[in-house]
Amino acid sequence: MYPQFMVRPVFNRYIARVARELIHRVSPEDYFLKFMLQQRNPLGEGAYALTFDFDFEKDIEAFPTLLDLLKKNNVRAGMAVIGKFVEKYPDIHKRAVDEGHEIINHSYTHPDNPHWAPNRYFNKLSYAAQKDEIEKAHEVYHRVLGVESVGFRTPHYGNLHTESVYPILAELGYKYSSSTAACGYKGFGAPSEHTHGIIEIPTGCSLHFPLAIFDSWNMLRKNNPFLGDDDRFVQEFADTIQVISEHSLFLTHYFDPYDVIKNNKMSRMIGYIKNIKTVLYRDIV
Ligand SMILES: [Zn+2]
Repeated sequence: MYPQFMVRPVFNRYIARVARELIHRVSPEDYFLKFMLQQRNPLGEGAYALTFDFDFEKDIEAFPTLLDLLKKNNVRAGMAVIGKFVEKYPDIHKRAVDEGHEIINHSYTHPDNPHWAPNRYFNKLSYAAQKDEIEKAHEVYHRVLGVESVGFRTPHYGNLHTESVYPILAELGYKYSSSTAACGYKGFGAPSEHTHGIIEIPTGCSLHFPLAIFDSWNMLRKNNPFLGDDDRFVQEFADTIQVISEHSLFLTHYFDPYDVIKNNKMSRMIGYIKNIKTVLYRDIV
């Protein structure tokens, strides 16, 4: 038989763990809010940073419609673009720059992009090859678009993201990376200093799915998606923005242009974005 004083702490810890599990299962929105309320919002007011990743030809096809929509609604966004696409389609990328959007370095070939880098994985490249991917893209943005990018997003995020990104970015004079998921990162959804003086801006989750990145892949396209329905996707976005706004929090998401242009999802979502201050990454680091 164990003395009472030994049993109780173990029992209490067990209860606390079960309670946490239950809270998450029963009320993910409570979990989301509790998590996000721990952040230090650098803006001090509700703020949202909208970003897009252009990985495939179909994303480039959606680019003009997306730019029209952003212009019509006076919203500026971050565009994570591939050096190879900028070389191939300079005009549409120039238009994005001219209309005030931010160019985020998304590498030169986007390993393992089927167009140029099949069977290459960013995290498996040598330090020198990773640096080359980032540096080459930077040179293309400078030469073709006349911009100096200050931020980077690792192709494929989490799975292919590696710690070597941070010293490389510091060497290149970059200011930030946006390559992690908010739910697994220390910043509680807000920018925070990682290492080598680089700020990490984790991509955000949503009100009812606080442990998954809120993107079209997780919510709509993978096997067994969390939502699987365009209307629910837009509603989840609207609910999330409302909570962020009410509690003066910072949040950022990334979207695949092709997916969100389809069925007018972005044109509906942008109506909710207009209710909150929008910011670019380069303006907050
Ligand atoms: Zn990508």
